[in-house]
Amino acid sequence: MSAPLLRVEDLHVWFDLAEGGELHAVQGVGLSLEPGERLGLVGESGCGKTTTALAIMGLLPPSASVSGRVLIDGTDILSGGEAAMRPHRWVDVAIVFQGAMNALNPVRTIGEQIVESLELHNRARGTAARSRTAELLEAVGIPAGRAARYPHELSGGMRQRAAIAMALSCDPRVLIADEPTTALDVMVQAQILELLDALCRDFGLALVLVTHDLPVVAQLCDRCAVMYAGEIVERGPLDLLYHSPGHPYSRMLFAASPDLAGLDEPVLSIPGAPPRLDRPIDGCPFRPRCDSAFAACVERPSLQEVAEDHAAACHLNDRVPA
Ligand code: SF4
Repeated sequence: MSAPLLRVEDLHVWFDLAEGGELHAVQGVGLSLEPGERLGLVGESGCGKTTTALAIMGLLPPSASVSGRVLIDGTDILSGGEAAMRPHRWVDVAIVFQGAMNALNPVRTIGEQIVESLELHNRARGTAARSRTAELLEAVGIPAGRAARYPHELSGGMRQRAAIAMALSCDPRVLIADEPTTALDVMVQAQILELLDALCRDFGLALVLVTHDLPVVAQLCDRCAVMYAGEIVERGPLDLLYHSPGHPYSRMLFAASPDLAGLDEPVLSIPGAPPRLDRPIDGCPFRPRCDSAFAACVERPSLQEVAEDHAAACHLNDRVPA
């Protein structure tokens, strides 16, 4: 059997804290992605989604320590440091960051930035790079003539399209989109989601969609991984997680989404807050908020297969049906 396109194994990230100690932001994350597959990585703010994405790209700040493996076609690109990562970053795996205004250089035109990316990765130079830039801009719905515009001269939606064009410049096989529609109005949000859908189809891209917005995942993804307190607590086909969740957090997360809760169901909020990750966690991290907690939950559950292609980290799945 061939190796998956992208596989993440036992990924951990710690950040040194200025006041001393460390914060264990990502705790043993594992996931895999086949060509063309679309995975939604979901969870509340601060659960480790973006840190996981940045760790896969090798883009975390020096205050972070990382362990685990990130494999592309079976080759580990994490353990060899920057030298092993550089040939794969943007070429095999690219990322669209949260908030295009922060990702784009404000003093260079969008065309210059895409040309620079093409030249830095030896994809094209001079006229060929400018011509490829025009193609990329057209592919994301920006008229090629706007290559000479600065980011501040474009609308929020156009800036996000430009950021997507830049991410596609080296023909990656995996695109990580980190909250790609945050801060956009509803109409523009729909357009960007349609664009991502079309690009995945047309370019055969595999997608990791990082978001707290479950309806966005429902629109674009076929699989879902739910993160809580730095770890994946459930993963599997999106339909299965929605209709037969194996973890109370997934159930409560779906029930808290106004667009996904059943029409006759009230929208529920999840009480309490996630645990601090700079302190040890006793037992199941979700226990203080869980409406199904029982005696066994004083032990931390691990992610186990609960059905074919469906895993969850919850002791409820250990109970033998009567
Ligand atoms: Fe709730 Fe226990 Fe399952 Fe944790 S292990 S999610 S506390 S039932």
